[in-house]
Amino acid sequence: MTPPRVLVVEDEQDIAALIKHTLERSGDASVNTVGRGDEALRAVAELSPDLVILDLNLPVLSGSDVCRLLRQRPATANIPIIVLTARTSESDRVQGLDLGADDYVTKPFSLRELAARVRAVLRRRGSPVAEAARPQIYRGARLIADFDAISIAVDGAPVRLTRREFELLQFLVENKNRVLSRDRLLERVWGYERFVETRSVDVHVGRLRAKLGAAGQQIETVVGLGYSFID
Ligand code: CA
Repeated sequence: MTPPRVLVVEDEQDIAALIKHTLERSGDASVNTVGRGDEALRAVAELSPDLVILDLNLPVLSGSDVCRLLRQRPATANIPIIVLTARTSESDRVQGLDLGADDYVTKPFSLRELAARVRAVLRRRGSPVAEAARPQIYRGARLIADFDAISIAVDGAPVRLTRREFELLQFLVENKNRVLSRDRLLERVWGYERFVETRSVDVHVGRLRAKLGAAGQQIETVVGLGYSFID
């Protein structure tokens, strides 16, 4: 069973390393760390983490902005977020939760307490393993995709896809409402064929969208990040 992925966004490297060490030692999670707000947005798209631990005081883009942006985008709106804040006044705490965070921890915090909050948030969210189960049939308002029978239909009319387009759609649907970067799509759908440029992902997504007609708009472009299938 793979442990849940946690992204720690914290510019103080000592703290980030301590959190990583604590969560990984206890087997609660596998942890990636980044030190800037803008990197956090990219990392969320790359890693599709099960939880983000987000410091509010960050260079380039503040933690509040990161939180707001993640919540605004449908693909990342449901990722659990625990905010780390140095501020202690009541209004700031309320603000942390207003931003859409699931929980907050005030600095200085005990690592044991943080680990307990992480477990609680991940538990509330449900098992990542169950979530990763492959849906064999997707039924949307217009699109019905039976990945077992390799049969795709939009508004009742069958749609012919190439193998590549089919795999692209399947991977997008499996990860619906999450952002998938071009690199991830490339790696998953094209495997290790080198020489394939990330731009060709755009071309294939464009064709897939066109073939899906009215259902094509479910594949959203997330500017600067990649693509997301919106359920
Ligand atoms: Ca900080």
